[in-house]
Amino acid sequence: MRCRCGGEAVTYLRYLRRPLCGSCFTRYYLSSVERAIKKYGILRRSEKVLAAVSGGKDSAAMSFALKKLGYDFEMLFIDLGIPEYSKACQRAVERLSERIDVNLNVVELKDYGFTIARVSAKTCSACGVAKRYIMNTFARQRFDVIATGHTAEDLTSFFLKNVAGGMHEWAEKLKPRNEPFDAKIVARAKPIFAMSERENLVLTIVNDVPFEAAECPYAPEPEWKEIVYEIERRKPGFAKNFVRGLASEAKGFGEVRYCRMCGEVASGELCAFCKLRLRLTSGRS
Ligand code: SF4
Ligand code: ZN
Repeated sequence: MRCRCGGEAVTYLRYLRRPLCGSCFTRYYLSSVERAIKKYGILRRSEKVLAAVSGGKDSAAMSFALKKLGYDFEMLFIDLGIPEYSKACQRAVERLSERIDVNLNVVELKDYGFTIARVSAKTCSACGVAKRYIMNTFARQRFDVIATGHTAEDLTSFFLKNVAGGMHEWAEKLKPRNEPFDAKIVARAKPIFAMSERENLVLTIVNDVPFEAAECPYAPEPEWKEIVYEIERRKPGFAKNFVRGLASEAKGFGEVRYCRMCGEVASGELCAFCKLRLRLTSGRS
């Protein structure tokens, strides 16, 4: 297969029905991200951005794209203390930091008195609470916005899962940018929300961008993702169109409360992180 430019194609984009070589694909990827950032007001040139990196291909692709597009940013990696996996991911983000020449910050969850390895039931929801808390408190010190590497498939599957569970307020959180509803909250942005996992993989491979391919040992069966993959197989471009549609929806927030223990924004007396921390550290010397 040949690319339009005559070079040898490395990938075939089904929804565009187009074979592309590595450099035409990279140009296509970067211009798609730049266009989405402008169209949906995801990032502003004047902002200092904190890119949350996990070591995986999606946040690596996002960081590579932000660097190529000239955004002012640093990266944050949270060591969750997941045996072997967390260290492998940290090595990958250290290589990424060198490859794209962007400063890497590392925060260790164990400094808060626990690690994800100690949580038994509901590991991912505890992990999500810890990551959101640390990202927000870290970013607030000197950044304007947190960028995460959520993909079109991530957002589509979150949406379907939560709508199926009757939680419609989730639609608001899936927008490409969420402005803070309180001074303690840092704005959140998803610059690659309309890019697919496959596109992120191709971008990292053709540009030699380091990432860790291993899956987290606690990752659940990706049931909803598999539904999205199946629809995507029959209707190429489904997830991209779906998240672009979601991007135009909006809904307001309720009353803001603050945690009695740490003072962060909370939905009840204690924030979700302090509840988790109390549960995991009580009874220890
Ligand atoms: Fe955390 Fe779950 Fe992701 Fe593992 S799969 S890093 S436990 S959210
Ligand atoms: Zn080409």
